[in-house]
Amino acid sequence: MATVREAMRWLANLPGTAVHAASSLYRTAPWEASGPDFINAVVALDTQLTAPDLLACLHALEARAGRERPYLNAPRTLDLDLLLYGTARIDSASLTVPHPRMWQRAFVLAPLAEVAPDLVTVEALQVVAGQGVERMGEATGS
Ligand code: ADP
Ligand code: MG
Repeated sequence: MATVREAMRWLANLPGTAVHAASSLYRTAPWEASGPDFINAVVALDTQLTAPDLLACLHALEARAGRERPYLNAPRTLDLDLLLYGTARIDSASLTVPHPRMWQRAFVLAPLAEVAPDLVTVEALQVVAGQGVERMGEATGS
């Protein structure tokens, strides 16, 4: 939880970037695995960074949080994904926007609906309604 809040401060300090809105924090049980719950949130940024530059910054912040990638889907201290970049569609080797799996994940759509309600329809939320995701509280508190 502290890591997520710290990451939000780091995002606000990226070059040419400001935090426009931040969701509450959401808790999800690990999927097909044991271990601690995941803490999820969505942040809306205003940024002058290009999408590839922003992704590089996100990876740098993951590294700052001590993330290593020993194998696919390994436990992680911090995972920062680029969900949307305005209305852009990007399909390069290292970056796909909109994020290809975002519409299947309640832990993405629930916080996204807070910061960008126009983007998440009731129907989209119904698709993922069976997934356990618990709203924890405001991200801005400490
Ligand atoms: P995941 O977030 O899917 O659990 P990773 O964080 O390890 O897994 O990301 C794996 C790769 O996904 C990254 O190296 C990155 O280049 C690529 N990638 C493609 N599109 C995106 C995106 N929209 N946001 C974040 N990473 C992305
Ligand atoms: Mg990721």
